[in-house]
Amino acid sequence: MKIRNFSIIAHIDHGKSTLADRMLEYTNTVEKRLMKAQVLDSMDLERERGITIKMTPVRMDYKNALGEEMILNLIDTPGHIDFSYEVSRSLRAVEGAVLLVDATQGVQAQTMTVLEMAREANLMIIPVINKIDSPIANVEQTEDEIMRLLKCSRESIMRVSGKTGAGVKELLEELSKILPEPKTEKLNGSRGLIFDFEYSNHQGVIIYTRILDGSIKRDDVLKFVAGGSDFIVREVGTFSPSKEAKDKLSEGEIGYIVTGIKEPGIALVGDTVTLKSKPLPAFPGYAQPTPLVFASVYPEYQENFDDLRTAFGKLKLSDSSLVYEEETSGALGRGFRCGFLGMLHLEIVTERLRREFNLNLIVTTPSITYEVTTRDGVTENIYTAIHFPDHGEVVKVREPWIITTIITPHAYISPIMELLHKYEATVIDMEDWGDSRVRVDMEMPLRELMRGFFDTIKSASSGYASISYEAGELRDAAVTRMDVYVAEERVAAFSKVIPEYRIEEEANDAVEKLYKILPQEWFKVKLQAYVKGRIIAARSITALSKDVTGHLYGGDITRKMKLREKQKEGKKRMMSEGKVHISHETFLNMMKN
Ligand code: GDP
Ligand code: MG
Repeated sequence: MKIRNFSIIAHIDHGKSTLADRMLEYTNTVEKRLMKAQVLDSMDLERERGITIKMTPVRMDYKNALGEEMILNLIDTPGHIDFSYEVSRSLRAVEGAVLLVDATQGVQAQTMTVLEMAREANLMIIPVINKIDSPIANVEQTEDEIMRLLKCSRESIMRVSGKTGAGVKELLEELSKILPEPKTEKLNGSRGLIFDFEYSNHQGVIIYTRILDGSIKRDDVLKFVAGGSDFIVREVGTFSPSKEAKDKLSEGEIGYIVTGIKEPGIALVGDTVTLKSKPLPAFPGYAQPTPLVFASVYPEYQENFDDLRTAFGKLKLSDSSLVYEEETSGALGRGFRCGFLGMLHLEIVTERLRREFNLNLIVTTPSITYEVTTRDGVTENIYTAIHFPDHGEVVKVREPWIITTIITPHAYISPIMELLHKYEATVIDMEDWGDSRVRVDMEMPLRELMRGFFDTIKSASSGYASISYEAGELRDAAVTRMDVYVAEERVAAFSKVIPEYRIEEEANDAVEKLYKILPQEWFKVKLQAYVKGRIIAARSITALSKDVTGHLYGGDITRKMKLREKQKEGKKRMMSEGKVHISHETFLNMMKN
């Protein structure tokens, strides 16, 4: 039977999941009465937030206008830039991409980013305009923008509504006609590309695969080409969209393989599975995802440390882009230093840890990695401020830069431009889209993006600008470490890597913030910010007055007694430790931006 594989790519909220729903409905893949909106978004978190986190492949049986039966495999993709790695993986498993553009929004920043990825994967691009039912749809203008982008004709752009289903039938027919047949090298043997996987308690790791050559069936002994280990296939099948067991998966098909593997780190996305007895080489061109953002995650209560470790292990089984390693911080105890694809990824992982594993967590302010070369000639990646070497030791520092695309209505271009220098951003390209909108490409350090750049641009444009970014190269950085001392003692968790030109600002901010949130003690507490061995900012918190109940008038005797008790305790602690105890709460407040 004919097989055609495609993906839908778009800026977030342009209607990928909704269009996929209509396709599933039209092909009777999902019965209408069982249809809920965005069926492919199965995680609770996805449904609540209306975003797609994990892509879901689905197989549709389709009968074309000539009465030919065929299989259309669709991979819905996450729209948020943090998950561009997942998008790029799914694109390797298909031959064509529906580039969906919302007619009420026009081409947006992420439209450009995903289009670039589809081009890199050599896919056939099928331009489609969505939401044509909307009273505020601007179909002609959106077409103009797409024509400019793809250099295509107006006639080649299809029009649909995921809401009403208009145009969906025509789109499916067109796809069945023009999508190229599945690529294969016709190698003598069998192999499948792993583009994703999930974990089930009963069945272990379940690989999502695109069969590149030959076929794979139950009881085959397979081997991971890169990973090296082997396993016996327990079941194979396709997604319709729930899993349906099949006798075998053949060349060009998309489906799943149940491995029974229960340990993390054995199945790797991007790896190839092949017959152990007759191995084929790996499918080339896959990259490991590189974390961009780092943060530490600690259990709020240390007795939950082992639970947290187990939880990370489980999450890693279904999210290969998550990286973590154990770390100890004097104040917070034992925890993990984790790498994430971006801020949304961080948010989703920590939210899943909280929900699915019922853990109370402390998550530190996210930071990035610096590549630091020291006097002794060693070059290392430093992803936590405490390990950033002293100024005198550092010979060279490099940091990741990014390329950011903003698309904005003309009216907001000058307020946005005024902001750029504050974030060390420089414009590299600019394009006018008629008299309504402008596209601006610029480069900036990732470090600056993380200082709330998105929010700033959003508010400067009253929410109209859309933003996307992709990782760029490493460049020389003028940054150094700032340490914060409380009562003459360095608090490791407050150390930070800061740009040279903002030393004073950062030092003052740190001290002022701490001054506001740290409670008074029985003695004077000095707060100091050190950079390169010098005190840049300092402030003292005065000692508590002798009788803390003095300000309470009249009869509330129990309250006075309580305060006196506290006073006693505090004095005792001061005598025994002679230092300031920094509470969890103070830490949390300090970490918040
Ligand atoms: P995704 O992020 O690309 O997967 O977008 P969704 O499918 O989740 O849709 C985003 C929003 O647009 C939802 O509120 C949908 O109800 C709405 N939407 C999707 N397609 C249409 C359409 O054709 N017309 C209208 N009016 N709204 C749509
Ligand atoms: Mg979606």
